[in-house]
Amino acid sequence: MSDYVLVINAGSSSLKYSLVDAATGEAPAVGLIEQIGEAKGHHSHKGPDGELSTDLKVANHEDALRAALDAFASHGPSLDDIEIAAIGHRVVHGGSQFGDPALIDDDLVAAVTDLVPLAPLHNPANLEGIKVARRLFPDLQQVAVFDTAFHQTLPPAAYTYALPLDLRDDHGIRRYGFHGTSYALVSAEAARLLGRDLADVNLIVLHLGNGCSAAAIRGGASVDTSMGMTPLEGLVMGTRSGDVDPAIHAHLVRELGRSVEEIDHLLNKESGLKGLAGGNDFRELSSRREAGDPQAELAFDVYCHRIKKYIGAYYAVLGTVDAIVFTAGVGQHSAPARAASLTGLEGLGIQLDADRNTASSNDARAISTDDSRVAVLVIPTNEEWQIARETIDLIG
Ligand code: ADP
Repeated sequence: MSDYVLVINAGSSSLKYSLVDAATGEAPAVGLIEQIGEAKGHHSHKGPDGELSTDLKVANHEDALRAALDAFASHGPSLDDIEIAAIGHRVVHGGSQFGDPALIDDDLVAAVTDLVPLAPLHNPANLEGIKVARRLFPDLQQVAVFDTAFHQTLPPAAYTYALPLDLRDDHGIRRYGFHGTSYALVSAEAARLLGRDLADVNLIVLHLGNGCSAAAIRGGASVDTSMGMTPLEGLVMGTRSGDVDPAIHAHLVRELGRSVEEIDHLLNKESGLKGLAGGNDFRELSSRREAGDPQAELAFDVYCHRIKKYIGAYYAVLGTVDAIVFTAGVGQHSAPARAASLTGLEGLGIQLDADRNTASSNDARAISTDDSRVAVLVIPTNEEWQIARETIDLIG
């Protein structure tokens, strides 16, 4: 059997795919189809025989996957030459049921469908990707890898919201946490970098991409995390608010006449860095800040202040910390964000080395001083590779 896994990440109007060698992490093909169902879509594909970047009107996810297969034929690698072992699907919400990846069959589809009320913005699209891939690849084994699974180790004190029992018991309202595939990969890599057993290290991991979250990880197990029942809670993100006073919702309804749908949209799509400074791209925000833009400065400060608060909280949760790990787009690439999030924490044994922090590198590395009690690490994440590995592990 080959180690090649077709990893599919289906969003509401996008289909991201990559062909990943689970053994090495190499991806001979990656592609993205955007604006599915809209008047003008776009398809990009990078393969061994060239790059495709073209406008393409795509009616639905099935047409999108067919377009992806055409791109494999035209830009490689040929799927006649490479044997795909299985398809791995990213599924955002696995509720309390799924602490591990699961083989996809009709029962799995029904179980993920039952979870739609908990993740109305994500699971329907993931399900669409699964249904389409099962239609087009009926003979291949397919695996669902859940963003929530890694956090099934959270203790009740960390996952329980202080709400009445019926809401918690009958409606599944609790913290689930997300970005699990990233945390699994990055925490194993952190232990390797520290030269320690994963079972013996305490980590605070900061996944700072478009979506942002933090996790306290003891011996490889998640013991607290900042995202909640949905990916809206916690850190400031590209377009999501993260933590706000829950009473703001009622205020928006009562005083400003906003509907539930408007509030959902506001907090998920119009807030975060976009709400603070008009744009969700951290690179652009950084340039504006360097040019002295006060809105960008405030957005940066709010963003880093929130990260620092979570570092303090998770330090207390863990008691002792071996390393703080930065990952994903902002975590891997923004030295100013890392520095601002850690400034003033020397009393906690966290000493950043300014030169190491600003040195340009794409490798996993330490950016703390040699005598820092707590190591500070930058570790590139690779969620597709982790999904491919978990898929191969499951199908044996
Ligand atoms: P996603 O959650 O979509 O996978 P990424 O992990 O790719 O997102 O992170 C995207 C974010 O990382 C964007 O806000 C982007 O501006 C930011 N980013 C990428 N490169 C840099 C950089 N060199 N400096 C600052 N921010 C960066």
